[in-house]
Amino acid sequence: MVFSSLGLSKALLRAVAEQGYAAPTPIQAQAIPAVLEGRDLLAAAQTGTGKTAAFTLPLLHRLTEKRATTRAPDHRGPRALVLVPTRELAAQVSESVRIYGRYAGVRAAVVFGGVGLQPQVAALRRGIDLLIATPGRLLDLVSQGHANLSTIEFLVLDEADRMLDMGFIHDIRRILGLLPKVRQNLLFSATFSEDIRKLAAGLLHRPLSIEV
Ligand code: AMP
Repeated sequence: MVFSSLGLSKALLRAVAEQGYAAPTPIQAQAIPAVLEGRDLLAAAQTGTGKTAAFTLPLLHRLTEKRATTRAPDHRGPRALVLVPTRELAAQVSESVRIYGRYAGVRAAVVFGGVGLQPQVAALRRGIDLLIATPGRLLDLVSQGHANLSTIEFLVLDEADRMLDMGFIHDIRRILGLLPKVRQNLLFSATFSEDIRKLAAGLLHRPLSIEV
């Protein structure tokens, strides 16, 4: 398997080549074509499997593919939302988006708690395509009118088991209630408790299940 056979744009393949990756990891080989096709995904994957690129790359592709045709170029709301449990993971995902998206022209922002609101508010105000967020801070920004989730077409829950372990289920359900009903959903989790299965069952539409 080679990256160039997965259907990703030249801009993304160039960024991947610069990272020196020889081949897609198993989760990338399975997830990337499915996400490009528009399928929902239920992925059992630990950190270190290449899971971040498995959702970041096809998401960046879809955000660049559709912008010119189906959306007005001046829209201000994010089209993709990546929810993560911690600020560390938020920063990591953000860094991956920056690296893989270097030639793709996607505007991204990251928001998490424990730091000042103002720089995050300013980033949101500039207009973004992709938002990476921890649940609590996202809800703060929404309730203060700084973030609008009515334009979301793609949702990723990364490390969903950790989000539930940290008590974010109510925040997640509130966020889900703010999203358009029609959207593509990707759920990544290292473990699959009854609670994760319930969340997945309510969230995912005929998902492709991947275990690596
Ligand atoms: P993750 O599982 O997303 O935390 O990624 C673990 C590490 O694998 C990161 O440092 C990535 O840069 C690296 N990585 C991701 N995809 C590949 C790949 N196809 N080949 C080699 N390394 C990769």
